[in-house]
Amino acid sequence: MSSLCVLLRKTRPLLHSLSPAMQKHHQYTLDVTASLVRTQSFVDGQWTSAASVFPVLDPATGEEIARVSDCGPAEAKRAVDAAYKAFHSWKQVTAKERSVLLRKWFDLMVLHREDLAKLITFESGKPIQEARGEITYSASFLDWFSEEARRVYGDIVPSPHRDRKILLLKQPVGVASIITPWNFPSAMITRKAAAALAAGCTVVVKPAEDTPLSALALAELADQAGIPAGVFNVVPCSREKTPSVGHVLCTDPLVAKISFTGSTATGKVLLRMAADTVKKASMELGGHAPFMVFDSADVDQAVTGAMGSKFRNSGQTCVCSNRFLVQSGIHDVFVERMGRAMDAELRLGHGSDPNTTQGPLINARAADKVAHQISDAVTQGARVVRGGKRLEGSFMEPTLLCDVTTDMLCTQEETFGPLLPVIRFNTEEEALAIANASNVGLAGYCFSQDVSQIWRVAEALETGIVGINEGLLSTPEATFGGVKQSGLGREGSKYGIEEYLDVKYMCFGGLKP
Ligand code: NAP
Repeated sequence: MSSLCVLLRKTRPLLHSLSPAMQKHHQYTLDVTASLVRTQSFVDGQWTSAASVFPVLDPATGEEIARVSDCGPAEAKRAVDAAYKAFHSWKQVTAKERSVLLRKWFDLMVLHREDLAKLITFESGKPIQEARGEITYSASFLDWFSEEARRVYGDIVPSPHRDRKILLLKQPVGVASIITPWNFPSAMITRKAAAALAAGCTVVVKPAEDTPLSALALAELADQAGIPAGVFNVVPCSREKTPSVGHVLCTDPLVAKISFTGSTATGKVLLRMAADTVKKASMELGGHAPFMVFDSADVDQAVTGAMGSKFRNSGQTCVCSNRFLVQSGIHDVFVERMGRAMDAELRLGHGSDPNTTQGPLINARAADKVAHQISDAVTQGARVVRGGKRLEGSFMEPTLLCDVTTDMLCTQEETFGPLLPVIRFNTEEEALAIANASNVGLAGYCFSQDVSQIWRVAEALETGIVGINEGLLSTPEATFGGVKQSGLGREGSKYGIEEYLDVKYMCFGGLKP
């Protein structure tokens, strides 16, 4: 295997301020099949080094685990050109053949699930059980869209003229630029790329600086599956180079479409860049999910839902509940059982330890943000029921706050960390007003046993996704996407492929009746 470093066998004393359970482990080894640890860019079917490299760090220890080619605008342009060239042949490949190739890619992901999960754990800090879950989820988009590839139906529409036929034909849009975040290093790529390739588009992927290894491992498996050169390209780069690489990917006239997952702030920057050449755009942006528990709710069901929805990936998912609105009659018992569930189920540690449920946050800045929200809330009268402390490195204690009000920072912005703030409310109207008082709307959750109330609340929630008595929602069969400033378009489901298709109207005239 080409370049450098990678190694992956590190011994490190533990993070001493963490739990004794964590302190007894001393060794973290990223032990992965060598061919899956790729560190160069993948463009036009070739692994190529850039002039410089950037380090990939294990966020749990701060140790360097690999050095990856730091691509710049020239490499990005080469990737766009390669994707454009490949588009002309890929769009001619039959849907059935594209389907078979996607399915082979899926099979390879399943075969290498454990190694792919380890890469996620070491580059993002995600606990290994969750990382395995992400690989299953990630692969499921290849499976789903391998099937959807064969169902891109057009329409024949009744014509108002006897001498004409109206045909609506769906065609791939062209080259898609795909820009993804670190919190789902694998699934955010396949959720886009599988739909794009199924439709007949080709792609250039720019993964997050923190997590390029999962993206490059996907490229290796795409290559092994027989996806032709130029169809799936990956240009990793450092945060320093990101703006210039992003500029190429969002402005090059050969790019027809951008698909982005990340923060709302970055999404707006990319949309502005894409405007000049009027590219199609899909945006999966930030959330600020309300989690509403009504008096009629099954409290244990609500606690289970809250544990999954809040603490998955240490609170670092866009659909993680951010504001817990709990009705007065059930408030105290919910808070009490929530605290007990946190004591019983949450264990901090290195993600490779199978007992760990809470890894580090992605970096110290992320942990500082959570700590700042906690101190802001406490200063304004919130009470710490569990946790509250900033730990070594980027670890953060899972924290439960009550007596939270809507004046506090944690109820006004996305936390992206393990903070569970509880706001007490009295009426359904009051809860809905708080829930909808946000300029974003990705996911929302409602726990109630009152069917009429469930319908009222689910319809009134200004979000693209609603969990009813359920905290974990994502699946390739359903749509994923938000309203307001949470984004544009939908991923997954039968609608996901539409984001990569244009509809051409063919008027077939001059027919003799
Ligand atoms: P981010 O800062 O917006 O970064 C996301 C991606 O955009 C990274 O690859 C980043 O590269 C890149 N990027 C940043 N500036 C760019 C530019 N000028 N040109 C091109 N690319 C640029 O987001 P994040 O902090 O990593 O991720 C967390 C956010 O993502 C949260 O708000 C979360 O809610 C959201 N998210 C949304 C979904 C969803 O489906 N709606 C899913 C997951 C996450 P670098 O890594 O080099 O900075």
